[in-house]
Amino acid sequence: MPDAPPASLGEIALSRCDLFKRPPYSEEPRALTRRFLTQAHRAALAALQGWMEAAGMAVRLDPAATLIGRYEGTQPGRTLLIGSHIDSVRDGGAYDGALGVMLGLGVVEELARQGRRLPFAIEVLAFGDEEGSRFHASMTGSRYLAGTLAADPAGLVDEAGVTMAAALRGFGLDPAALQAAPARKDVFLYLEPHIEQGPVLEAEGLPVGIVTGIAAQTRLAVRLAGMANHAGTTPMPLRRDALAAAAEAVLLVERIAAAAGITGTVGALTVEPGMGNVIPGHCQFSVDLRAPLAEARDRAEAEFRAGLAELCARRGIAQEVRLVQRLAPCLCDAAAQSLLAEAIAGLGLHPFRLASGAGHDAMSLAALCPVAMLFIRCRAGVSHNPAESVSAADAEMAARVMLDFLGRLERR
Ligand SMILES: [Zn+2]
Repeated sequence: MPDAPPASLGEIALSRCDLFKRPPYSEEPRALTRRFLTQAHRAALAALQGWMEAAGMAVRLDPAATLIGRYEGTQPGRTLLIGSHIDSVRDGGAYDGALGVMLGLGVVEELARQGRRLPFAIEVLAFGDEEGSRFHASMTGSRYLAGTLAADPAGLVDEAGVTMAAALRGFGLDPAALQAAPARKDVFLYLEPHIEQGPVLEAEGLPVGIVTGIAAQTRLAVRLAGMANHAGTTPMPLRRDALAAAAEAVLLVERIAAAAGITGTVGALTVEPGMGNVIPGHCQFSVDLRAPLAEARDRAEAEFRAGLAELCARRGIAQEVRLVQRLAPCLCDAAAQSLLAEAIAGLGLHPFRLASGAGHDAMSLAALCPVAMLFIRCRAGVSHNPAESVSAADAEMAARVMLDFLGRLERR
């Protein structure tokens, strides 16, 4: 009997992601939910640790519950980080985050199989809290590693009333240790492979793409106050309808973003009192603006604020705009982008570059070291959804690009 051909790195990475779809690696029997510091998270880390150790890596868990597997190099003092996140949103997909971790693990397994050591160490990272789906503070692991974690874990509470500090203690970790940044000097690059979570690579007919940077993002919370009144007795010219003003504001966001070639979204809106026979007195809504460069985003925000002030004045509506978050754009390292381009071209593919509209751990780690990202095509651009899908051939191509990239880093 001939042996079956060995599984490719891509197939192995996908099968590990698929294994992690269900208990004990998911909190739910028929859906994938793996939130920070849950039993499902713990089970995933135990499995990862086993694979890492089998590949000859020294494994540790840092104070932010990031699992780190270290594969030593031939020379001391220089470390390449490869990783992504192992947590998920509720009812999420199997590959968002996890695929990047499994690909990092897979390329180290391949090096170990070849008995090959590079002139730098590789650490494979599995961050535990990128999504923020439990404590509503995202990127805890990467912000801790970068030394920019400002939040006090005692002040963050999940929906069951458990603080992050208590959950960390349940993991055998000391919450106080989070306050002291690791201040690493040995890291020369962080590489994050990640599914694209958008439709661009599929439209281009390409398995992988080089990320140029992560979009600048501004989130606003807007509150409009008009006057609630009887829907039958208040003539149209005498109304101060907060929802009608909000409707105009939503279309304003859409118009500004489209004209500027950036993205603008109103994703949440509440109406008070929310009754069919009452003119809406109050309305609250979110605004999310993202652009590759901060200038375009800031121009759009200023335009929105001016337009909102104008329409509210015209309609007799009081308005309040609160800044929720303003994140700087993250630019990926130019030299690493060039090496990725060479690796991709060397494998016979067009080295296509694209910006990321979604936030990633790379964004936080940019405060520590240069960062690079490799996007992998996902079917129809769908993510944060059980329908998330990646082909084994595409995952294999990503692994090949990464191995070739490591060789280029070695020779540089
Ligand atoms: Zn992700």
